[in-house]
Amino acid sequence: MAYVVNTSNSKCARLKPVPLESVKLTDNFWAKKIEIMEKVTLPTQYEILEETHRIDNFRRASGKISGEFVGFFFNDSDVYKWIEAVSYLLAYKNNEALDKLLDSVIEEIKLAQDEDGYLNTYFTFERKQDRWTNLKDMHELYCAGHLIQSAIAHHRATGKTNLLNIAIKFADYIGRIFGPDKKEGTPGHPEIEMALVELYRETNDKKYLDLAEFFIDERGKGIIGGSFYHIDHKPFRELDEVVGHAVRSLYLNSGATDLYMETGDKALLDTLERLWDNLVTKKMYVTGGAGARKEGEAFGENYELPNESAYAETCASIANFMWNYRMLLVSGESRFADIMELCLYNGILSGISIDGKEYFYVNPLADRGSHRRQRWFACACCPPNIARTITSIPGYMYSVSSEGIWVHLYASNVSEFSINGSKIVIEERTDYPWNGLVEFKISGNARFKLFLRKPGWNKEFSLSINGEKPQMTLERGYIVIDREWKDGDIVRLEFHMKPEFLESHPKIKDNVGRLAIRRGPIIYCVEGADNPWGDVWDLEIPEDTELKEEYRDILGGVVVVKGKGYLNDPKDWKKLYLTLEEANSLRKEAEFVAIPYYAWANRMPGPMEVWIKRI
Ligand SMILES: [Zn+2]
Repeated sequence: MAYVVNTSNSKCARLKPVPLESVKLTDNFWAKKIEIMEKVTLPTQYEILEETHRIDNFRRASGKISGEFVGFFFNDSDVYKWIEAVSYLLAYKNNEALDKLLDSVIEEIKLAQDEDGYLNTYFTFERKQDRWTNLKDMHELYCAGHLIQSAIAHHRATGKTNLLNIAIKFADYIGRIFGPDKKEGTPGHPEIEMALVELYRETNDKKYLDLAEFFIDERGKGIIGGSFYHIDHKPFRELDEVVGHAVRSLYLNSGATDLYMETGDKALLDTLERLWDNLVTKKMYVTGGAGARKEGEAFGENYELPNESAYAETCASIANFMWNYRMLLVSGESRFADIMELCLYNGILSGISIDGKEYFYVNPLADRGSHRRQRWFACACCPPNIARTITSIPGYMYSVSSEGIWVHLYASNVSEFSINGSKIVIEERTDYPWNGLVEFKISGNARFKLFLRKPGWNKEFSLSINGEKPQMTLERGYIVIDREWKDGDIVRLEFHMKPEFLESHPKIKDNVGRLAIRRGPIIYCVEGADNPWGDVWDLEIPEDTELKEEYRDILGGVVVVKGKGYLNDPKDWKKLYLTLEEANSLRKEAEFVAIPYYAWANRMPGPMEVWIKRI
């Protein structure tokens, strides 16, 4: 069963997972993206892993080839994330070539592992004596975490144990080194925490859970320097603000949430709630992006959310998505699924080009046209991270619980569930995210509750079952229908979706006097390619302009938003100051077209912005 996060036996998880292979996407959005993963992204990434010697580093470690280690000391992690991405794809559909390729890469990894279980291609030969000497900077535990995650995904997807055995051997070795009566330490880059909890779930061996707890409890003692950057300035349970490196912080929160689901340690959940509140009310971009500053790839102060210099690393949006998924599993509250959806359609998807070949590491919300996606990066954390996210999407769409079936994300699909021994098939049809109409056809007979997430962006919805208004309640942001379901029942749910303006908190300086456009789950931007009348940075829009929507067969098929605004062209200003009357006489009407933010920078370079001046 290819679960992304297996909470089937987690005592403090309200929701249980549905395996990837039970969900077959039939839509035009995610199914297409997974196909691009299979045909383009995953094979291309493999070629680049070879070309950049990331796999050679394993061959070097095993003595197959000679030469120097190439690249960053954490490059092994890119290979592991790619394996994880391919594994999810294999769970979803057969692909013999990729399956074989995986086995060949796993063989290289196996040969690179030491007798005692140690595995990191940087700390070999002349650097062997440096193992575990610098946990703060050298990412040994981070790479181990990615190995463990990829091994679990591979085992769940294929049933094979070739990679899982390698990961267990290494995890056991780490467990012999670190622990309460052993070596002190905690990773400078969290990641292994959630991997170890998942390894506990996979093997039922509690020592991995204990080790995850140990690494979390070791924080804040100053062992790795005590800095904000490493989230080592305080014990985890005393944190009240997301600080430091955004990806590290959000991976740590993900691991702590996993730990909570197994232990029920209330202090952990209280901390996570405080951190979540700080993130979403003071430190998150409208796209779900996190980490405002380039310096330290870090969160800024509260309300420090600049647009042009936004860092908002693709991995940080992914980490935000992963953490919110875990918080959703704990609680069954839609506010977490809302953030997942926000990240997914905006801050994450902007990280990859429509053709699946190029990536953003940094995701600014305003640009002059020079920021372009790259084929790869020397520090290439983001490309395989986005691949493993997209190939695992089917595993995030539903959950089950003792009460029934939960629908978190909407897309056309056919899925199978087992409810109290009865087989239930749900066939969902929708044009989401472009249209809010969603239809479900239920096959099978059973009594259960159907939980349908009412997206946070939605104000009004209509619901019918077999053409009649059903009994329903609204619980924790989910529409709940409790009934004896009959074969052939049709649920018709329509979330009224229209473009609307957003205004930001007045303390976000860059956004003062500006508006953003949202339609359903999608955040929009204006880009030069659609607006030839001038520079979109000089666009001003009145708040009462009528926003119109139109489907266009561009950028993979998108709904664009159009409206009337004004061009206030600086070139027309001959003086520094004008009277209002003079200034207004310079403004020219401009019909603007806004596209989904995730789709920008896929055509000719030009200026772009999300937050548009308001007149
Ligand atoms: Zn990254």
